[in-house]
Amino acid sequence: MQDSTPKFVQEIDQGFGNIIEIKACLCDVQSDYQHIQIFETANLGKLMMLDGIIQFTEYDEYAYQEMMTHPAMMLHKNPEKVLIIGGGDGGVAREVARHQCVKQIDHCEIDGKVVEMCKKFVPGMACGFDDPRLNLHIGDGLEFVRNKVDEYDVIIVDSTDPIGPGAVLFGREFYQSVHRALKADGVVASQSESIFLYPEIVQRLYGFTRELFAYNGYAFIAVPTYPAGSIGVCLANKKYPVEKPLRELDDALASQLRYYTPEIHSAAFKLPAFAQRWFTQSK
Ligand code: SAM
Repeated sequence: MQDSTPKFVQEIDQGFGNIIEIKACLCDVQSDYQHIQIFETANLGKLMMLDGIIQFTEYDEYAYQEMMTHPAMMLHKNPEKVLIIGGGDGGVAREVARHQCVKQIDHCEIDGKVVEMCKKFVPGMACGFDDPRLNLHIGDGLEFVRNKVDEYDVIIVDSTDPIGPGAVLFGREFYQSVHRALKADGVVASQSESIFLYPEIVQRLYGFTRELFAYNGYAFIAVPTYPAGSIGVCLANKKYPVEKPLRELDDALASQLRYYTPEIHSAAFKLPAFAQRWFTQSK
């Protein structure tokens, strides 16, 4: 008799978190870098966890992928050459590929197994890897960007949390390398954790980018299945303020999106008082 008891996965972060009902485990492998699990959930589509930390559910991944990608892309007048660091699920690549002006996407992901598993089990996200403009490099993002100079219009750092392989992507050396790798009007967007769960990480990333770039800011993203229902993206621009898009969002692209709008772009930088104080104090 098949056991009909519902099964659950949970993520506890800072003492609280999410519990999600699952129907089946599709993948459970230990790569050279992390424990990769992909589940079919009861109501949220597929879910991937790395080392027990929710990376996405199909239910709300668009919110994160769109906000990691489109504010940065709209903060450049003509982004032709883009670098994605991390992003092994392909979601950010899928969003970058929506911009017709892009001519080349370099993508550096440290764990080829994540790419392989997402291609197999979550093709709706991993489809980003199929774009002919995309060159996939399997390796460490810091090593990849270290010797690049004046090469990219936009760099998107879609990393895991600052533990394990992701730790180097939250350090000063990495941001100095990113700054060097960007062109004179370059833009960087980085996964920057939740203001509710990781104030010190948010402030540290903001501080690095404040030191190095003419303009920077932290944009809030609502993602129901992330702990505290939120995360953020730290944006920095060598030439222009980050709070307003530099170009019009054409109707064809706008019709493909479910979260990003020019209004959301600006509104995302309006933070609760406690967080706003962090940033006004550091100016
Ligand atoms: N949305 C997720 C989040 O907010 O935590 C991140 C998604 S994506 C799956 C994170 C990716 O970063 C993983 O595929 C992981 O292998 C990759 N990664 C971690 N450290 C890295 C490094 N040093 N260089 C390149 N990729 C790295």
